[in-house]
Amino acid sequence: MTQDNKNQTSAKPKMTAYHASLDNFSRSTNQPSQSQPQRTGGSKGSFFQKGQTSRRPSQNQNQNRPRPNKNMKGQNQKSGNGQPITFNASKNLKICHLGGLEMVGKNCSFLEHGNDILVIDMGFGFPDADMPGADYVIPDVSYLVENRSRIKGIVLTHGHMDHIGAIPYLIEKIGSPTIYGTNLAIGILKEKLEEFGMTNRVKTVVIDPEKDNLKLGIFNVGFFRVNHNIPDTVGLVIDTPDGKVVHTADFKFDLTPINEPVIDLGRIAEIGKSGVLALMIDSTGARNSGYAISESEIKENLLDLFQKAKGRIFIASFSTLISRIQQVIDTTVAVNRKLTVTGRSMLSAIEVAGKLGYLKVPNDLILTSQKASKYPDDKIVVLSTGTQGEDSSALTRMSRGEHKFFKIRKGDTVVLSSSIIPGNEASVIEVYDNLLRAGAKVVDYKQMDIHTSGHAHQEELKTMMRLVNPKYVYPLHGNRYMREANADLARTLGYEEDKLIIVDDGEVVELNQDRFAVLKPRIPTSLVLVDGLGVGDVGNIVIRDRQAMAEGGIFVIILTINHRTGEILTSPDIISRGFVYMRAAENLIHRARTEIRSIFKHHIARQNVDLQFIKTTLREEIGEFLYDETKRRPMVIPVIIEV
Ligand SMILES: [Zn+2]
Ligand SMILES: [Zn+2]
Repeated sequence: MTQDNKNQTSAKPKMTAYHASLDNFSRSTNQPSQSQPQRTGGSKGSFFQKGQTSRRPSQNQNQNRPRPNKNMKGQNQKSGNGQPITFNASKNLKICHLGGLEMVGKNCSFLEHGNDILVIDMGFGFPDADMPGADYVIPDVSYLVENRSRIKGIVLTHGHMDHIGAIPYLIEKIGSPTIYGTNLAIGILKEKLEEFGMTNRVKTVVIDPEKDNLKLGIFNVGFFRVNHNIPDTVGLVIDTPDGKVVHTADFKFDLTPINEPVIDLGRIAEIGKSGVLALMIDSTGARNSGYAISESEIKENLLDLFQKAKGRIFIASFSTLISRIQQVIDTTVAVNRKLTVTGRSMLSAIEVAGKLGYLKVPNDLILTSQKASKYPDDKIVVLSTGTQGEDSSALTRMSRGEHKFFKIRKGDTVVLSSSIIPGNEASVIEVYDNLLRAGAKVVDYKQMDIHTSGHAHQEELKTMMRLVNPKYVYPLHGNRYMREANADLARTLGYEEDKLIIVDDGEVVELNQDRFAVLKPRIPTSLVLVDGLGVGDVGNIVIRDRQAMAEGGIFVIILTINHRTGEILTSPDIISRGFVYMRAAENLIHRARTEIRSIFKHHIARQNVDLQFIKTTLREEIGEFLYDETKRRPMVIPVIIEV
C-alpha cells in the first residue's frame, strides 16, 4: 500500500551465491609481516568490490563494525557482477572466519585446502542496539553455500549457543554436512534441532575426544579436552598438508573442575612437541590478569551467598552454563532448599544435560513453579533465564510483577550474572532497577559470568602458547581489542609481528611454514538477522525502517479521493507517532495539510498520472517540508484511498 512496504517485500537480502573458491582469489601484494591485516580494496570491477566498499565506507575501517543499515547489501554481492577471477592454483592452507572476530559470539570458521573445506562451529550472536527488534545474528555463510559440495564436515568445540546456535538455520543451506562433536555438544544440538523439527534431517556423530581421529577430506582432526564453563569442551588439532593447526576452543585451566576431567595438559604438551604451525587461541579473557577462577571456588562463594540469604533466592543464568547450573543445584541441596526452574530453555537444558549424565540432579529437588510458590520463603531457590534483560524472560517478568507465580518483593535475594552483552545494557539496567524498586537485594555475582569465568586469563593464555609452541599465534574469539590483547601476550613471549595473525571476519589467511598472507578479496560477511522465526527476511530495509521510526517517528498521510474525478473528498488525515505532539503542533499540521493538498492538486491535474508517482512525490516533498520546519526526518507514509 505504500512505497515503503513495496520496498520491503522486494528486499531479498540474504543468501547470495558466489562462484568462487578461495583458490580463485588473487594474492595480496602486501608483505605478510604487517600486523595490521590487509584491507581488501580490490581492483576496479573486481568481484566483491561493490559490497566491500560500501560496507566499510570510512577511512578508519578497522574501528567500524559492520552496521546493518550500511552493509546489509546481499543483493550487491551477487556473483557474476564483477569480472571472472583469475584462477590461482595455490594449494596452501587457507583459514577464514565468517563470524566471531568482530564481536563476542556468532563463531564460525573454516579451513580450506585444495578442494576440501572443514567448518568449525556455527553459532549465533546477539544483535546490537542499532538493530531494533532482531533476536539473533547468524554468520553469513554464502561462501559455504556456494561451495557446499566441498564441505567435508562441521566440527563443534562445545555446546554453547555462540558455537552451535546457528546450525538449525544454516545447515540445510550448506548441503547438510555431517556434524561432529562431543556427547554433550551433540545432545544440546539435537534438542535444538528437535525444536525446529529437523532431528531426522541432520547427521550428527558423537566423538570420543580421547580416542577419535577424524579423516575429513584432506584434514585429520584430533581432539584434546579443555575446561570451560560447560563440560565436554574440546580443543582441536588439525593436521593439514601445511602443518598442524591447533584450535583451543573456549577454554580455561581448571585444576579442580566440577563433573568433568581436568584439561589434558599432557596431551597439549605432546602436540606442541610434535610441531605446530598455528595456534588459534581464545581471546575472550585476554584482558584479565592472572588465572581464571576454578569452578570449585565458584561453588564455595555461591554457598556463602546462599547461606546469607534470608528469604527467597532468585538466580539468573544462561541455560547452557551447565557447570553453573550444577553448582546452583549442589548449593541448593547444601542449604536445604528446593529448586524451581523457570524459562523453557533452562528447563530443556537441565533435561538434556541430566539425561546425558552431565548434571546430577537429586530426585525430589526440583518442584514445579506452582508448588514452589507456596513454599516458605527460606526454603526455595528459583533458577531462571534472563541475564540479558530479554523482554520475555522469566526474570524480566518477575521484576515487573508480571510473572504468574513469582513477584519480586522485599526480602528476596536476586543473584545476577554481571556480564552484559554489548547492546543489552539498557534492558539489563531496567531489570536491575525494577528488582531494587520491588525491594530485592540484588547481588552482582561476577563469577556466574559467562565471559569472565569461563575463559583463560593472561597466565593461562601464555602457558597455552608455551605448551603448544606454535610458529604462528592466531588470536580467536572476540572483538579486535581483545584479540590485540592476546597478541600482546604473545609479544611478551617473543613472537614477532610476522608471526601474529590478526584479521577480521571474512578475511582469508593463507599460510604455510614460511609465511602467511591475507588474500585480497575478502569473503563478504554481512550480518544475517533472525527475527522471530524468519531468517534473513529482516533485511537492511526492515532494519532501516525500524531505525527511521525510532529516530524520527512516523507521519502517515491519508487522502480520500474520488476515483473518477481525482478530487480530494476530505481534508487530509494525518496520523503521527513519535514525531511531534500533534496538539501542540497544530500550526505545523495545518500547514502540512495545505502543502499536501497543493502537491496533490498540482500532480493530479496532469494527464494519466499514476497514483504511485503521487505517493512518492508526497513522501519526498512532505518529508522535506517537515525537515525544513522541524529538522527531524519522520518516516512519511502516504496512503491514498479511492472511493
Ligand atoms: Zn563457550
Ligand atoms: Zn564462545
